[in-house]
Amino acid sequence: NQIKAKFKENPKFDENTYATWINSVTPISYDGHVLTLELPTALHRDYWERQLKSTFIEYAYAVTQTDVRPNLVLKGETGPNTDNLAQFQQNHAKPTTPHIDPHLNHHYTFDTFVIGQGNQMAHAAALAVSEDPGKVYNPLFFYGGVGLGKTHLMQAIGNKVLKTHPNANVKYVTTEKFTNDFIDALQNNKMQEFRRVYRNVDLLLVDDIQFLANKEGTQDEFFNTFNALYEENKQIVMTADRLPNEINSLTDRLVSRFKWGLSVDITAPDLETRAAILRAKAQSEGLQVDDNIMSYIASQIDSNVRELEGALSRIKAFADLKQEPVTMDLVSEALKPLKLNKEKSALTPETIMKVTASYYHVTVKDLKGKKRVKAIVIPRQVAMYLCRELTDNSLPKIGEAFGGKDHTTVIHAHEKITKMAASDAELQKQIADLKTEIRH
Ligand code: ADP
Ligand code: MG
Repeated sequence: NQIKAKFKENPKFDENTYATWINSVTPISYDGHVLTLELPTALHRDYWERQLKSTFIEYAYAVTQTDVRPNLVLKGETGPNTDNLAQFQQNHAKPTTPHIDPHLNHHYTFDTFVIGQGNQMAHAAALAVSEDPGKVYNPLFFYGGVGLGKTHLMQAIGNKVLKTHPNANVKYVTTEKFTNDFIDALQNNKMQEFRRVYRNVDLLLVDDIQFLANKEGTQDEFFNTFNALYEENKQIVMTADRLPNEINSLTDRLVSRFKWGLSVDITAPDLETRAAILRAKAQSEGLQVDDNIMSYIASQIDSNVRELEGALSRIKAFADLKQEPVTMDLVSEALKPLKLNKEKSALTPETIMKVTASYYHVTVKDLKGKKRVKAIVIPRQVAMYLCRELTDNSLPKIGEAFGGKDHTTVIHAHEKITKMAASDAELQKQIADLKTEIRH
């Protein structure tokens, strides 16, 4: 703790740096000479080797009056192999070129980024690159599904670099913009201008390069841009929704270039992280929400961060319009359409038939068949009823799933079960049980 405190006091390590690289480290053992530290990812070890080790030894000496060596071990065995992480030479500072509009969103910073299990590694890599652009991981490549923070992190690098080097030329482009600029330059004989812009940057951020798929000309130009920047030790950061070798018809030479640097994936946030993100967003919007309610929202919206934000905006809008505080009732009302849509698209008649058949101890074949005994007719009609209630499938489609029955049979089943359930508590309970089981 005393050593940590010394790091914290040093203005060289700002709050982010401290939290990410230093405070995340756990001391495991100490034998009087060697202090074993457990680090969360391979990047942390890399960073410690490069940036923190000597300061650590100095501070440890100040605290203990003996020579203490750090022994850096990784938590679990996660993270990529650090052996092939590229290390690059000193970048010779050049006189700055005319300033280029970086096109960054000022909200996408490290300060507003919540670190959690699925993005810890990506965040650490982003921070390392923003502290030493062009020198550590070049190119840096983030991949992962939509709404998980790739664009945010990439722009956080840009914002941080501009903050520490206001004269740096930073440029953020979507792949679409790059493609359009390139085509525009070709058509208007402005290739020189295009190259002047794209090759004079110190940090190039290219978002969503999966859109380079099937665009050979643009890929060639991107390859040239990449090489020109890389040779000058200029930092390149890219994102995509998948790995480079999974992008359709991306030329091998580009794929192999991307492998020179570091690729890190971002995965969906776990429950805890989702709740932390919600808390941060609610706070920044001045929205008062109880902790229980936060956890509830986080448990309901489990796909990505963009949807979490959407849910919170809806809740805020409801609270504003109704001029009510954020209660559990208000939240479930606000989230209802989001949940229903998601559920409807995910459920199929097959799932419903399977669960219903097993619940009533009959077979799916019975449900699809024509037997008219009561022990089968009721389960069949309940299953049809549930298909109407829980999916978006059309009546003919439901009929078809039930062994090619007419759509009027489905209507009849739905009406009959609705009527029966109105006066039959046992049936109501069965339907409720089935719904829970099917959703599960
Ligand atoms: P992607 O580019 O992966 O599709 P974005 O970077 O556009 O995702 O993120 C979607 C939204 O979620 C943005 O508004 C972003 O600020 C927010 N977001 C994503 N991850 C986080 C996080 N870890 N902390 C805070 N906000 C996040
Ligand atoms: Mg994005």
